[in-house]
Amino acid sequence: IPTSEISLVYKQGKMRKIHLLVLAPNFETVDQINEWLDTKGRRDYDGRPIFGFTCPEFVEAMMSISKDIEIIPAHAWTPWFGIFGSMSGFDSLEECFQDQLKHIHALETGLSSDPKMNWRLSALDKYTLVSNSDSHSPWPHRIGREANVFDFKKISYANIIKSIRTRKNFLYTIEVDPAYGKYHYDGHRACNISLSPKESIKLNNICPKCGRPLTIGVEHRVEELADRPSGFIPKHAIQFKSLIPLEEIISSVTGFGLMTNKVREKYDKFIRTFGNEFFILLEAEKEKLEKVDKKIAHLILASREGKLKIEPGYDGVYGKLILKKLSGLRDFV
Ligand SMILES: [Zn+2]
Ligand SMILES: [Zn+2]
Repeated sequence: IPTSEISLVYKQGKMRKIHLLVLAPNFETVDQINEWLDTKGRRDYDGRPIFGFTCPEFVEAMMSISKDIEIIPAHAWTPWFGIFGSMSGFDSLEECFQDQLKHIHALETGLSSDPKMNWRLSALDKYTLVSNSDSHSPWPHRIGREANVFDFKKISYANIIKSIRTRKNFLYTIEVDPAYGKYHYDGHRACNISLSPKESIKLNNICPKCGRPLTIGVEHRVEELADRPSGFIPKHAIQFKSLIPLEEIISSVTGFGLMTNKVREKYDKFIRTFGNEFFILLEAEKEKLEKVDKKIAHLILASREGKLKIEPGYDGVYGKLILKKLSGLRDFV
């Protein structure tokens, strides 16, 4: 499926910076989209080009090209480019899309939020929550961190779009722990300051080190906009499974960096044995995992039971696995 992200930067009251996902049914439609974009600016310098028109203008133009184009607000909660982002987002979908909101059916939760967090806003009940990896870097291990699981006899664009619009045949999403995402907590990367929403509120959202406003993360924004307590499950919610990428687990257990050969070798050994990473993380049997590596098997099982502890990501820094706080793991690490 041809997909892309587009970045819209414009003034509506304050400056707004919004990333939108665009899904197109075929390459003829892509040509038409590009033709329209070329009347508005350049798109030859970046995979995610920046334009100055508004979200409703874009939706209207896309719908006049094809009703089969799907537009989905990308990583909806991230501070800088999410539709609900603390820095340059909106407080509601209505405020952003106005009379074009009827063409929006889904939201991408992004790595730093999971469906549970989004369920706290009753305003989002009518939108399907989709999960993608938001993989922009050239590293293969960033692909497939999140996924949407459908049940189709035949995989086709029409079926996928129908499922996104109606939730029929949409089984569940696969999520990383939201704390792993780069913008879960508040903080300042340069100041080495990471704070929970409660801690930042106490400090009036000001960095205790440099005195400038903190980058307010996803957890804080959800708290601000939520009208339900945490733990609420809406009626037609699509369930989800949580995981931590296998390479992250291998890297924490072995102490070697994500991009090292040591981690790659171990990863490849698992893949050779089981076939694919989702099967390893979600389904493979304990005994078989242990045959490949006992420590890593233990962490995979702990991850399935939601027992892994993560030091939350903040201001562009990924969350990290904390091994020492995991009870019963001391024998292994
Ligand atoms: Zn983006
Ligand atoms: Zn600071």
